[in-house]
Formats: sequence, structure tokens, C-alpha cells
Amino acid sequence: MTDLMRSLDGVDRDVAEVLRAEARRQHGTLEMIASENFVSPAVLAAMGSVLTNKYAEGYPGKRYYGGCEEVDVAENLARDRAKALFSAEHANVQAHSGSQANQIGYFSFLKPGDTIMGLSLSHGGHLTHGHPVNFSGMFFKVVAYEVSRETKTLDYDALRAQALRERPKMLVAGASAYARTWDFARLRAICDEAGCLLMVDMAHIAGLVAAGLHPSPVPYADVVTSTTHKTLRGPRGGFVLAPARNAEVVDKIAFPGMQGGPFMHIIAAKAVCFKEAAGDEFRAYQKQVVANAQTLAARFVERGFEVVSGGTDTHLFLLDLASKDLSGKKAEAALEAAGITVNKNTVPFDTRSPFVTSGIRVGTPALTTRGMKEREMGRIADVMATVLEDYANEATIRAARAQTRELCDAFPLYPELW
Ligand SMILES: *Cc1c(COP(=O)(O)O)cnc(C)c1O
Repeated sequence: MTDLMRSLDGVDRDVAEVLRAEARRQHGTLEMIASENFVSPAVLAAMGSVLTNKYAEGYPGKRYYGGCEEVDVAENLARDRAKALFSAEHANVQAHSGSQANQIGYFSFLKPGDTIMGLSLSHGGHLTHGHPVNFSGMFFKVVAYEVSRETKTLDYDALRAQALRERPKMLVAGASAYARTWDFARLRAICDEAGCLLMVDMAHIAGLVAAGLHPSPVPYADVVTSTTHKTLRGPRGGFVLAPARNAEVVDKIAFPGMQGGPFMHIIAAKAVCFKEAAGDEFRAYQKQVVANAQTLAARFVERGFEVVSGGTDTHLFLLDLASKDLSGKKAEAALEAAGITVNKNTVPFDTRSPFVTSGIRVGTPALTTRGMKEREMGRIADVMATVLEDYANEATIRAARAQTRELCDAFPLYPELW
């Protein structure tokens, strides 16, 4: 790694300095964006490798290019490990991203104009689940479901009634900002009754599913899509799991349907990630991720903040700041000045625009990778609460920054890369 950095220095000091500055930034701030994580040096090594040079359109043993014997090994490892990790009958590991995994999921089963039913973006869903500005909203008719106004959690009876009324071709489950456990068995029963397909996008919770800390969608879904870079802590990318009956259509839609040449360096890094995720250490890590999120959320509740749905079963939660008379936008900026990175996020039934929002999303996968535990979480919650309650006071922000700096230095990140 450092040898490669030296060769970059010799060619392009400008870009080399960006890489160093970013490594310093990652070390020097508390990363609490729920969709981010820090990959292992092994994953980084596979990504920054000669496998990027190889064109390998097609699948192992059936390529459109010669010289694929080595990359075939990497893709077979990634596929077999994904299947074993998630007890899936089929895995396609070529999706370049979560969005492209969803394109593969949709176009394997749907035609433009078909109806999908997905969780509303403003209630925790993802752009690719049918938002009008996204391809999913452009190609498909969209019915959005929402969380309950009372509990801020999914209301499966209401969802069932809506599915029976609207008769979508596909129900899309999964979210980017939903803190509670999904009942995939219940969703399967609803889909059977409504005569629709079930696609589960487990992008956020894949690491928890791999570790057995969230129920797996695999036994219930017609297709499962995911990213590799969130809780799963792999390279930036996507993958698709399916029962054997859907293997052929998924592979055909992935290539040649949606993508050209697969990123073989990223696929090799996915193989490394799946191997890491199958180990005991990873399971302990995911347990700590959830324990950390629960500790943080509980401390915020103690300090008089509103945690959406009252807590979390996962790696993230939403803070609703409306009662503090503070927007998500202002909160994000104040926390950033204090050395804490989060993103502003709409809360269910938000009255502010998506550019302002009434909430922030808080996640623990990245800090947990650095080794932080409940003790640090309590301290971080207090720092955050103090900043949010006194965001206009420069002295408060400065004192908070000193505390976050101290925490960062106690848990060094990629020190060889600064
Ligand atoms: C992050 C995410 C995606 C998109 O992943 P990208 O790699 O950013 O395209 C899709 N679905 C859900 C639920 C996500 O959280």
C-alpha cells in the first residue's frame, strides 16, 4: 500500500495529497454517517490491484474475452462465499453499486409501466425504490407505503390493505433510514395474498443479516439486492441473491442487460469481504455495532431528545430535532464543526424540505470498526447533545472539537496512510 502511495507521489502529487488529506480527515473526525464504514487493509489491497486491468464480460467459464482464468477464480470465490454467507441458492456479484443491483432486481421481473410498491423516501426508503427523480420512478408506476404516524414503524396491516388495493407487480422492502427489524415472513405472506413479487433491498442491514443479528430475507424474497460497502464493510459495490429458479434471469439481466465489463478488482475485494464477514470476529463486530447504536439512542432519550420510534434494533437511528427548534441542516453543520459527521435526514411526516429536514441520521458501523464501545458512545452522545442544544455558541463547539479530537487519537485509523 505504502509502496503504491510512493509511486503515486512520483507521478501526481496533487492526487496523492488528496488521498493523504482524506485519510487524515477520516482519522480526525467521528464518522457517524450510517451508510459508511472503514474497509480492512486486505479489502483495500484487492481494490487497488492489477485486476482492474482485465475485461471479463460474461461469467466464469463463459467469457467474451480470453485470459480470464485468474479472474474467474476470484469471481467464483466471491459467488460461492456470498451464497454460503447468506445461505442463498444463487449469487450475482457483478453489480457496480446498490443502485445497479436494484436495476438488475427490477428488470429481471418487470417491464416499464409495471407498478412497484416501495417505502417512501421521506419515511426511510431509498431513491431507487420509486422516487420520481430516479430511474425507478421514471420507468415504473409507483405506490409508496409509509410508516405509522403513531409508532413510526411499519404497519403491516395497513401495508397489506394497500397491497391488496393497489395490486403492485412487486413489493420492495428495505430502507436507508429505518431503525427497526423487518418482518420478511409477514411480507411474503402479504405478497402471496396480493399476487406480487417480493424484492428485498438489504443494502443497509447486510452485515447484520450476515452475522445473524437481523432475520434474513433470503428464504422469503424472489430477489435480494444489496450493497457491499455499508454494514457489510466491503468495497463500494453491489450484489444480487436469488433462489435457483431466478438465477438465469438475474444473470442475463445483469449482463448483458444492464452492465458491461465487471469490475474484477472490486469483485476480488467482495470475495475478501465475504470471507471476513463469515468469521467470528465479524459477528462480534456486528453485535457491538448494534449495542453501540442502542447505547447512543438511549443516552439521547435520557437527554430529552426524540429518537424516532423510541430506539433502534439496528446500526442506526433518526433523531427528530423538531422539538428542539433545530433543523437537520443546522444540526449537520454544527456537528461537523465539532468534528462529528452525520447527515441531515427527513423524519417521517417531516414538515421541512429534504434540503433542510427536521432530523439527522446517526449510525455506528464506522466508529465500531475503529474499536469504540459503549463507553465512548456515552461520551459521544453527550458531546452531540451539548452541541445540538448550544449550536450557536462558538466556545461550546470548540470544547466539543477538542473532545472529539482526543477520541479520534485514542482510536487511530489507517495511520500508515496519512
Ligand atoms: C445505499 C442504498 C442503495 C444504493 O447504493 P449505491 O451503492 O449508493 O448505489 C440502495 N438501496 C438502499 C436501501 C440503500 O441504502
